[in-house]
Amino acid sequence: FLYFCCFLPSHAADFDALRNKMVEEVLATSGSSPPGPEVMAAMGKVERHRFVPALLAPVAYRNHPLPIGHGQTISQPLIVARMTDLLKIKESDKVLEIGTGSGYQAAVLGEIAKAVYSIEIIEPLGKLAEERLKSLGYGNVKTKVGDGYYGWPEAAPFDAIMVTAAASHVPPPLLKQLKPGGRMVIPLGASFMTQYLMLVEKRQDGLITTRQIVPVSFVPLTGGH
Ligand code: SAM
Repeated sequence: FLYFCCFLPSHAADFDALRNKMVEEVLATSGSSPPGPEVMAAMGKVERHRFVPALLAPVAYRNHPLPIGHGQTISQPLIVARMTDLLKIKESDKVLEIGTGSGYQAAVLGEIAKAVYSIEIIEPLGKLAEERLKSLGYGNVKTKVGDGYYGWPEAAPFDAIMVTAAASHVPPPLLKQLKPGGRMVIPLGASFMTQYLMLVEKRQDGLITTRQIVPVSFVPLTGGH
């Protein structure tokens, strides 16, 4: 017990060291698709230990998903990095995220993009993430509680859209809210079945192309749609 206690991170410097290790591990396990430097810089900056329940802060920098309450999870850092990288976000971009959860992914996007809009369907999670993002100074991240299937029409169109819950199909309202030339990443497939992370691109002429990226395991996109 004493041994365990001695190695519990408690100072900012301990968390910084663990975060640097996490970044190295993400890079080392990315195989032939290492995320770009902007994505890795964002992963190195966002304090993941502030986005998980306090009891889990000591293990926040492991390359694993973690529970955040209400049966939901904060995604594995490797997947966060890969999904962010696939969107090829520029600093002038406006990005929509579906599934705010803890707010961690929104913060990573907020480190790169000009503006991030994020929607969460579970009210207590959405409210907690909103307060957290505000207190950490992410003034360019706006959140709301609602069914993300319908997107955020008042803020559309978006340069990029990230869906962080598994859907059975690409929601047509999200396709509509994607700019020509824009990219969307979305896990497709049923719970407890093989799901695939898909990259959906809307060409300048409006044609939609899709590409299967990797098998993944996400909680389902819920709601009345
Ligand atoms: N991006 C989150 C983070 O960084 O912590 C993790 C997302 S978690 C894997 C998926 C989230 O999607 C859950 O919080 C869940 O409540 C939310 N969700 C599921 N269906 C939704 C919907 N229709 N609209 C908005 N959020 C939804």
